[in-house]
Amino acid sequence: MGALDDQRRLFELTAMIRTYSQQYHEMDAPTILDAEYDALVKELQSLEDRYPQWRREDSPTQSVGGAPRSELGSVVFDQPVLSLMNVHSREDVEEFCRRVSEGGGLPPLVAELKIDGLSVIVNYRQGRLVQAATRGNGVVGELVTANVSQIATIPATLSQPVDVEVRGEVYMPKSQFARLNQRRREENLPEFANPRNAAAGSLRQLDAQITRERHLAAFFYEIRRGLGTLANHHQALQQMQAWGLVVEPNWRRAESVEELWAYVEFWQTHRAQLDFDTDGLVFKVDPIALQQRLGATQKAPRWAAAFKFPPEEALTVVRAIHLSVGRTGVLTPTAELDPVRLAGTQVSRASLHNQDILQELDVRVGDSVFVRKAGEIIPEVVRVESALRPAGTRPFIYPSRCPVCGAKVRRVPGEKAFRCTAGMSCSAQLRESIIHFASKPAMDIDGLGDKTVDVLLDEGLVKTVADLYRLTAPQLQQLPRLGPLSAANLVRAIEQSKTRPLSRLLVGLGIRLVGEKAAESLAREFGHLDRLMAASMDDLLTVEEIGHGIAEAVVEFFAQEPNRLVIDALRSMNLNFAEPEAVVTGDRLRGEVVVITGTLERFGRAQAEAMVVAEGGKVANAVSSRTTLVVAGERAGSKLDKAQKLGVTVISEEEFLRRVSNFQSE
Ligand code: NAD
Repeated sequence: MGALDDQRRLFELTAMIRTYSQQYHEMDAPTILDAEYDALVKELQSLEDRYPQWRREDSPTQSVGGAPRSELGSVVFDQPVLSLMNVHSREDVEEFCRRVSEGGGLPPLVAELKIDGLSVIVNYRQGRLVQAATRGNGVVGELVTANVSQIATIPATLSQPVDVEVRGEVYMPKSQFARLNQRRREENLPEFANPRNAAAGSLRQLDAQITRERHLAAFFYEIRRGLGTLANHHQALQQMQAWGLVVEPNWRRAESVEELWAYVEFWQTHRAQLDFDTDGLVFKVDPIALQQRLGATQKAPRWAAAFKFPPEEALTVVRAIHLSVGRTGVLTPTAELDPVRLAGTQVSRASLHNQDILQELDVRVGDSVFVRKAGEIIPEVVRVESALRPAGTRPFIYPSRCPVCGAKVRRVPGEKAFRCTAGMSCSAQLRESIIHFASKPAMDIDGLGDKTVDVLLDEGLVKTVADLYRLTAPQLQQLPRLGPLSAANLVRAIEQSKTRPLSRLLVGLGIRLVGEKAAESLAREFGHLDRLMAASMDDLLTVEEIGHGIAEAVVEFFAQEPNRLVIDALRSMNLNFAEPEAVVTGDRLRGEVVVITGTLERFGRAQAEAMVVAEGGKVANAVSSRTTLVVAGERAGSKLDKAQKLGVTVISEEEFLRRVSNFQSE
């Protein structure tokens, strides 16, 4: 390649990397693998080393992270928040050790797990959490104090009244990530690519309530201010723990390359057992004085290095392609594989996601395929090794009939998914829908898990959710897995579920697109199932937050004969079909449609909403032309902007209090 080609490549790489970096850091939605991204950065770095005159000031090799989201508010850091330099091989690790040895012996080191989340910088004043920020671009971070305050593992107060700034990593536990994506799948929302993106997406948004519901966690690994007289990094870790901050416990001290390498080898095979994603290990010089002497480049400290685990992929053979049928009838293709080890576990199935992806990859039975763990959890097929394709394979043809019940399969316009059209008469859909009906956010029937549901279905005792209410204790105690005590408990739990409010019943019925939020809006608006069933598209569309898609799904659900029969049966079992009336005690907000945004000082969101309803007003979540009043708390963001654009009256928390009570500010 000539110099001209090099120059062209260098500019091209700069532009490509910037785009990928924006997708990753600013939109929390990467489109390429980290390892692919790192390879591009490495290529750019080597071109820049060769031709320093062409390196741009704002080259991605010189900067950290992405632009902060302006709606969040910003923090300018006293000292830059840096990234880490990467090492990939044992030679790289040796090279790092040579550099920090400064020609002498190897200094003591600390090795830690590299948590794959996003950095937060938290300030405590007099031991109280006063400010939290993301790393942003390393110079300016995003202000996320309200959201960080909702993370249960980050203490609001430390055990000592110290003034300190600490840095840590917010992450989403793998188990929580799996639950979240499962729910999003059910609610037809886009899934998060991996726990890191899910954590970032849950923190870098404007509603602290959402952060709270996402159950994030955090580990701390650095004291940025307030180290006092501590001489070593490992003492800083211990100090943070003594203050009540959570430190990832698997760190260790090391005094040789061998020890570091043993740590690498151990975690490469054991990381799958952790409940958080780790994308590598971090090696740090232990003595703080030496850290200070080594200093930092513009992008990363010279006293630390991140060892990145190679992306784990494995080659195996597809033995079958299987279609499973979910609660809403969606057919999901899965590849059955020759068992292979991947990221510490044995993998024998991998997701093919949907018909489009399956077709694009052109996976066929008999093919050799590469599989990898998406977000370290669900294995997926990445590509076919076409050189290994045996003769006589045939493209997979999506069936036109449900593989479980034989009913017609239909692609819903505008959706990627194909669905079985049989509804509850398909046994796969029935199973999933009963499990869903009994789940916590729905009817919350204790003791009715998937194993028990399988038994009930096998025995032919349950054909619709209504049949649950016909079960008796003598009948149940005959069944495998259920003794007299659990049979009695189950019958009691089923009986108790009859009184759940309409909103929960609506979640339980599993109407397409109707998740918890939509169910609450519908229940609040219509008050009774009969009124909701009689509602037209137009009626539904007058409800705040109910858009065309949901309205259509609701009308369609109640139009179907089998669904109406289930509802009739539930009625005959005396299930509650009403939403308890919110108690209206006043009329100060009669006729107002109120949106509450930002963080309120004196009370929580739910309490404020209850006050609106008590005064005869209506609560909405989104600002629209129907909104008449917006209550803006601290750090209100896009909803406030929209209200201002639409000319809706905006009031402060104090003013709100004055309007709903005889409140006088002191
Ligand atoms: P990084 O993630 O490689 O390493 C630095 C980060 O590690 C720190 O900011 C800190 O948040 C974190 N960290 C976790 N545990 C730590 C510990 N114990 N001690 C110290 N730090 C710890 O670097 P980065 O600058 O945050 O981001 C670059 C990374 O993002 C690369 O891995 C790159 O592959 C990835 N990326 C991917 C894409 C893509 O499109 N796939 C795009 C941009 C960046």
